Amino acid sequence: MSDDARSYPIAPHGGALVDLLAGPEAAPALAAEAANLPKVVVNERELSDLEMLATGALSPLTGFQGERDYRSVLETMHLADGLAWAIPVVLSFTDEEAHRVGGADSIALAASAEAAPLAILRVSGTFARDKRREATSVYRTDDLEHPGVKALYDSGDTCVAGSLEVIALPGHDDFVNYRLTPAETRAAFQERGWRTVVGFQTRNPIHRAHEYIQKCALEIVDGLLVHPLMGATKADDVPPDVRMRCYEALFGGYYPKDRSMISVFPAAMRYAGPREAIWHAIARKNYGCTHFIVGRDHAGVGTYYGTYDAQKIFEEFEPGELGITPLMFEHSFWCNRCEGMGSPKTCPHEADDRVSLSGTKVREMLAAGERPPQEFSRPEVADILIAALQRG
Ligand SMILES: [Zn+2]
Repeated sequence: MSDDARSYPIAPHGGALVDLLAGPEAAPALAAEAANLPKVVVNERELSDLEMLATGALSPLTGFQGERDYRSVLETMHLADGLAWAIPVVLSFTDEEAHRVGGADSIALAASAEAAPLAILRVSGTFARDKRREATSVYRTDDLEHPGVKALYDSGDTCVAGSLEVIALPGHDDFVNYRLTPAETRAAFQERGWRTVVGFQTRNPIHRAHEYIQKCALEIVDGLLVHPLMGATKADDVPPDVRMRCYEALFGGYYPKDRSMISVFPAAMRYAGPREAIWHAIARKNYGCTHFIVGRDHAGVGTYYGTYDAQKIFEEFEPGELGITPLMFEHSFWCNRCEGMGSPKTCPHEADDRVSLSGTKVREMLAAGERPPQEFSRPEVADILIAALQRG
């Protein structure tokens, strides 16, 4: 890949796209070294972070964060050097793991006890994870009912910081054709001649409302990257394989092939609402997006965040600081009197004229084998969801 693709169409966060993956010459020596180091198994969330660090999705980070950056991110939403950053990326060890590795200055990280190490962590320091402060700062709550807070409190108490040298990316046997690294999405945008690209984060099937928002955004830019998050999510979210079939059906029938792409975002979901919206936007900048869609209650869960908090938080940064343009959207719907999709910004009619269904109602209909109105959900998407629910 050319240097062009790394900086095109916009510079990565911090200026340079990080690449921690050892090349074919260096990898065997690293693997041999790792075989003799103390080994620690990272959890599913940390494995997602490792993959994102390795490929530069979290540029400018080159490893798991140390205490200065950790504190700085919690208190100021910036790294210690002043660059905007909203969510800490740290590696937690349990007391047993911390004791076992002792004062090792290099540690092998693996996905399971049997698996070969994926990376070597060059340890720069350790510190106690301030879970209470992290919860109230990142999640705005320390309620254990919150899935992000629960995962935080379930993690080990000691953070081990350091840079990573990556031997191999975590293996995946699903969506292999969709797993583009930031360098690869940048090259794909360049190949298509896109100079402006809007990214869309999702962990749900896409219904008409989100299709409308994406297409409104696409009217003003060259290309659309639908970037579904495929790392760990809550157990009651729609499974990744079902979601991917829905995206493929939509793209097959309703999206222009030369203007839109699907690729997998390997991150794990934090459900941190506003702060996660910032973090999602910065990561998409690293993938080469110039614009990023922020809807209502982005990355939210339950009633922990206000409907527009994830949009308002962008105002807490100086213009240009994030380097990606957020596009804020209202909730949208089909209106029978407008005879088209719209939002409260564009449709003057009453609720009775609008086709609006709660998530609960939609799930009930799908579970009963019933398609929601086609103004709400494309029949191709509804049928995939019905079939998945009936399979159990
Ligand atoms: Zn209307």
